[in-house]
Amino acid sequence: MKFVKSAICIQCGEEHHALPGLTTCRQCGGLLDILYDYPAIAANLSKQDLAARQDNTMWRFREFLPVAEESVAAGLLSSGLKVGGSPLYPAKALGGQLGLSSLFIKDDGLNPTASLKDRASALAVIKAIEAGADTIACSSTGNAASSLAGNAAARGLKTFIFVPSRAPKGKVAQLMMFGAKVISVEGSYEDTFRLSAEAIDRWGWYNRNAAINPYMLEGKKTVALEIAEQLNWQAPDYVAISVGDGCTIAGVWKGFKDLYETGFIDKLPRLISVQAAGCCPINNAVDADSETLVPMEENTLADSIAVGVPRNFLKAVRAIKESKGITVNVSDQEILEAMALLGKTQGVFGEPAGVTGTAGLIKALAEKRIPADATVVSVVTGNGLKDIANAINAAGQPLLLPPDLERLAGEFKNLGWLS
Ligand SMILES: *Cc1c(COP(=O)(O)O)cnc(C)c1O
Ligand SMILES: [Zn+2]
Repeated sequence: MKFVKSAICIQCGEEHHALPGLTTCRQCGGLLDILYDYPAIAANLSKQDLAARQDNTMWRFREFLPVAEESVAAGLLSSGLKVGGSPLYPAKALGGQLGLSSLFIKDDGLNPTASLKDRASALAVIKAIEAGADTIACSSTGNAASSLAGNAAARGLKTFIFVPSRAPKGKVAQLMMFGAKVISVEGSYEDTFRLSAEAIDRWGWYNRNAAINPYMLEGKKTVALEIAEQLNWQAPDYVAISVGDGCTIAGVWKGFKDLYETGFIDKLPRLISVQAAGCCPINNAVDADSETLVPMEENTLADSIAVGVPRNFLKAVRAIKESKGITVNVSDQEILEAMALLGKTQGVFGEPAGVTGTAGLIKALAEKRIPADATVVSVVTGNGLKDIANAINAAGQPLLLPPDLERLAGEFKNLGWLS
């Protein structure tokens, strides 16, 4: 960990050695943040160095990541799944429809297990190996679990996974396929989290729970590092992100700040924090200018962001405020509409939580909270094939008919499909 200085508590300020098995503050139990030696990074890494690198996975930014030198030397960075390097599409068609001149879609559903969570899990698995663990556990709304199971399987580690029983079948199928021991908990995500914490305590597995483990955010921040490089080191004006636990949005902010501190970019974007109206405790706190969490029920079909008690609450709230960000809450209907619109206009297929950022952007534009000449990146955080039921809800059913050309012609006429 060449450029890591320490892990500092965001609540009491206590500094800790950044050990691989580190979770929360030993003094007060608060969340920890990994601190870097930015001048040293700047002295050792340039834009030209990066441009010359062949590796287009998240590890191309290894100077910004908390990985032990021994792991690098052992070739761990190149031996796992290929995480990161997702495309940043100029979304001309969708931008045109929304009246936005410069819109980009970062499709992180194209990661190996089809969500942005791979960025955290790829790092989690390396930290587990560094901690000498052979078994990793987490609780998840679905994607953290499937990404952990996949990234661990690729390196021969065992996983215990706790998911709420409402997790979509596609995500559970991934878990089973990757050989995880899966516990489907009859209860909310909060219940699931609690059971996993108790089990981790009892059996001593490596803990990949986002927000409890400070390294998860470090992995997720690589999406921001990529966006900045793909935009030729021009930070966008806004980045729209869907928010559940709050680890992703705090990670995005950390990534841009890392680049700002090292002089790779010269301004910071504003965050658009998008939550489901049926479960928006982080946005509520930001709106109330409060750092006190008021838990909510988990009433949304966007299962990946149905988090009533967000574990990364404080980091997320502070990130949104620091960025002078805006909050947007969207209905399930608005999420499904965004899903279909993104698919139709850009050929990008996101799961409900995957497109919630886009849904929020659409709403914020309609309410004129974002100028039409802004450069905006909307991150699609998970692939739509994970949740087919909601995809069909959003896009509808196909035309069903017997193999009869005249019937087909008749239906075409009725539907106006040839005009
Ligand atoms: C986990 C997840 C999010 C939200 O990330 P948090 O760190 O929980 O805020 C958004 N979209 C998808 C698809 C996810 O899996
Ligand atoms: Zn503390």
